[in-house]
Amino acid sequence: MSGAFEKVIIGDLVTPTEVIRDGFLAVAGERIAVIGQGEPPAAAEIFDFRGRLVLPGLVDGHMHTSSALGWEAIGDATRSAAAGGITTVVDMPYDVPLPVTDAALLAAKIGCVERSAHVDMALYGTIRKTGGLGAIPELAAGGITAFKLSTYEYDPVRFPRIDHATMFEAFREIAKTGLPVAIHNEDQELVDALTAKARAAGRTEPIMHCRTRPPLAETMADLAIFEMGLAAGAHVHIAHSSLARGFAIAEAFRRRGGAATGETCVHYLCMSEADIVRLGGRGKCNPPFRAAAEIAALWEALLADKIAYVSTDHAPWPIARKTDPDIFACGAGLTGLQSFAPLMFTLLSERGLSPTLLATYGAERSAMLHGLHPRKGALRPGSECDLLVLEEGDFPFDEALIQDRPELRWSAYHGRRMRARVAATVLRGRLVWDGERVLAAPGSGRFVRRESA
Ligand SMILES: [Zn+2]
Repeated sequence: MSGAFEKVIIGDLVTPTEVIRDGFLAVAGERIAVIGQGEPPAAAEIFDFRGRLVLPGLVDGHMHTSSALGWEAIGDATRSAAAGGITTVVDMPYDVPLPVTDAALLAAKIGCVERSAHVDMALYGTIRKTGGLGAIPELAAGGITAFKLSTYEYDPVRFPRIDHATMFEAFREIAKTGLPVAIHNEDQELVDALTAKARAAGRTEPIMHCRTRPPLAETMADLAIFEMGLAAGAHVHIAHSSLARGFAIAEAFRRRGGAATGETCVHYLCMSEADIVRLGGRGKCNPPFRAAAEIAALWEALLADKIAYVSTDHAPWPIARKTDPDIFACGAGLTGLQSFAPLMFTLLSERGLSPTLLATYGAERSAMLHGLHPRKGALRPGSECDLLVLEEGDFPFDEALIQDRPELRWSAYHGRRMRARVAATVLRGRLVWDGERVLAAPGSGRFVRRESA
């Protein structure tokens, strides 16, 4: 290696396997050229993050920019991602007014990403409630990283329930593409019956959200999707398991030869039923928060390497949709892009666990499942230079600092003491967040295609 590099980045590097104190990254163009320790090579420009933790930029494998506000919201949501150290987001397809169900809609959404995104974005695709299976090959060819289907219906067009016969047929078609299919896993009949009963009894207080979507609603759906996946030869992935049992079920199907995986979301690793009672609509998400004992069980599953990755399921409803005292009237979904990195770091730190696990479950593994690794989610020569820089300290989370539209500046973690803050974010070698301001312009994020099976 001769001559000076364009750029050198100095700090304590956190890879999925080790912390390299006083490390450096030499950057050529948009990619990492050299990773090392000690005296850095000469460079035209230096990003000096000495004393701070430098991780791979996070890859959020599950979030929703456009469920409430349409594709226009991509620009603002990705500003928040940049401020949160998330350099690649994988966006769900259930958009207003139309979900991503064919090549033309995918191309239009990609156009919007290229014009407005502040970080890189990969995309899920889905199918129409009926008659849409023919579009599966063109969606895969268009570069989506995964399919998403649901066993539960929020809306017959935007977020439909796919019946078992159609789902099985879809799995057989998706299997031919080699892509995974993530499933929203809640049993419709059980949830609808319990909800109708609660409403009839006038029970609409927050805890009833948990009571009407019990663990059984999730595990019944898990079993159905994995049985169909096993029979169809498809890689079926639980889009969010709030239960350690979901990962035990996935493991049982892997032992039978199935490609069965699941992710959890960071809120299930720290929130319990008591939190929806405390937070009301701001704590409503699906699946709901569980009994407190489930948190420890999920951490056990994580440390036993049974969880594919950890995501945010960022699904921001305007605050006006989160404050109704009738819990059933509130939108389901939390904001999470800016709280993810500090919160996950804090949860690990509180348990005496290494930040390498944040690099593993928040970047490497999600990039792998979505076929983006090692271009994304890695600190190694040849990888794109996407970085999350954490400053350790005592920082209460302040929802007012969320870099999104005013109506989306709310958080279930407001006031929560975090042991780190995002001091900087680097996207393909360029500083996009300096700890106070988003420096990226709209359109500096790119659409990223699935690259590997
Ligand atoms: Zn989701």
